[in-house]
Amino acid sequence: MRKPKKAPAGAFSPESLMMSYGYKPELSEGALKCPIFQTSTFVFRNAREGKAFFELAYGLRERGPSEALGLIYSRLNNPDLEILEERLKLWDGAQACAVFESGMAAISTALLEMLKPGDVLLYSEPLYGGTDYFFRHVLSRFGITAVGFPAGKGIAAAEAAIASPDLKERVAMIYVETPANPTNALVDIQACARLAKRLSNGRRVYVAIDNTFLGPLWQHPLKHGADLVIYSATKFIGGHSDVIAGACLGGEDVIRRVRTLRTFLGTMTGPWTGWLLMRSLETLKLRMTCQMKNARYVADYLKGHPKVERVYYLGHLKPGTPDYAIYRKQCSAAGSVVSFDVRGGETAAFRFLDRLELIKLAVSLGGTESLAEHPATMTHADVARAEQLRMGISDKMVRLSIGVENPQDLIADLRQALR
Ligand SMILES: *Cc1c(COP(=O)(O)O)cnc(C)c1O
Repeated sequence: MRKPKKAPAGAFSPESLMMSYGYKPELSEGALKCPIFQTSTFVFRNAREGKAFFELAYGLRERGPSEALGLIYSRLNNPDLEILEERLKLWDGAQACAVFESGMAAISTALLEMLKPGDVLLYSEPLYGGTDYFFRHVLSRFGITAVGFPAGKGIAAAEAAIASPDLKERVAMIYVETPANPTNALVDIQACARLAKRLSNGRRVYVAIDNTFLGPLWQHPLKHGADLVIYSATKFIGGHSDVIAGACLGGEDVIRRVRTLRTFLGTMTGPWTGWLLMRSLETLKLRMTCQMKNARYVADYLKGHPKVERVYYLGHLKPGTPDYAIYRKQCSAAGSVVSFDVRGGETAAFRFLDRLELIKLAVSLGGTESLAEHPATMTHADVARAEQLRMGISDKMVRLSIGVENPQDLIADLRQALR
C-alpha cells in the first residue's frame, strides 16, 4: 500500500468528512444526523420561488452565481440523494455524481444517454453478467453495436477488435471493468483514454469504467483519464449486503446529461436507500481496509495449499509482468475478491462450496460477510462454455469475496472445506 497523501491545507480526507459533509443541522432542527426525507414533494415558499426552481430544473435559463437547484419533487432531487452525491464525489475527486436505485440502473441510464443508434461500444471481457446482457440484447435493439475485447491482453487487443474501418470510425465509448470479474485481469485505463483520443475524429469518444471491484478506495479512474466512473453501490459502498444501489460520477457536463435522463427514466434512489448509503459511507474505509488485509491472509494461505491449482489475486502479481505495471500505476491496494482453481474440476469445487460453514454460498461481493460462489455455473452461467474458457473461467474456479471476520476463522473454514 502507498503512503497516504498529505491533504492540501484546509482540506480534510474523505474518511473524515463522511459523517458531516454536505449536511447543515440548522436546516433540520439541529439534528446531528441527516434525517430520512421520506417525502415525494416539497413546499415552495411562494409562487415566484416555484417558477425559479423549474426554470433551472428544465434549463430554461442560466444558473445565477450563488443559486442552487431548489427542492422540487423526489424524482428530481431530495436531500438524502444530494448529500450522498456530495460525499461520493470526494472519494473519486469527481466534479459531479448521480445516484441510482441499482448498479444496472446507473449503467443503463448512463449508456442510453451517452450512445445513439449507429454507435459502436467497445468493451472489455469478461463483464458483469447483467451488463453483458444489456449490451448484447438491449442496446442492440437500439442500433448500438457492442464489440468485446479480452481484458488482460493489452490495449492492442482492443484495437484489433475494431480493426475494420466500419467499426473503428463509429466507436463512441470504451467501457471497461478492471479488475475483471472473476479473473482479476487488468485493463490499462490510461491506455484506453489514449485510444479514445486517437479514435475521436471531430467527435468525443468517452471512456467509462465500472469501478465496483476496487473503488472508491483503491482505484480512481477519473485521475487516469476516464470520463465516467460507474458503481454497483450494492457492493462495497453499501457494504452490508442489505441494499441495492448504484452511482455514476464524472465531469459536470456529462453527469448533468445523465441526471436529466435519470429524471425521465425515474431510476434515481429513494430517500431511504440514500440514507442507508450515507450510513455505510461512514465506515467505508474501515471496512475496505479490513477486507483488503483479510484477503491477503486468505490468498497467501490458498497459494500454498496442495488442493489449490492457481490463485487469482492482484497482490500476487509478479514484478516485470505487464499486469504488475498496470497494477502499480492505477491501483493502490489489491482489494478483497480472490478467485482460485480447485484441483478436480466442478465436483471438487462443489464439494468445497457445500462444506463451507462460516463463509456463505451466495453471489454478490463487497459485504461485511465472506461469500463464495462458482462463476461457471452461477454468475457467468449465461456465457457460452467456449467463451468462458477463452476468458479463463473454468469449472474448477471458485470466487471468494472476503469480509471483516477474524482471518484465522476464515482460514480454518477454508482448511476444513478443502480437506
Ligand atoms: C453487481 C454488479 C453490477 C450490477 O449492480 P446491481 O447493483 O446488482 O444492479 C455491475 N457491475 C459489477 C462489477 C457488479 O459487481
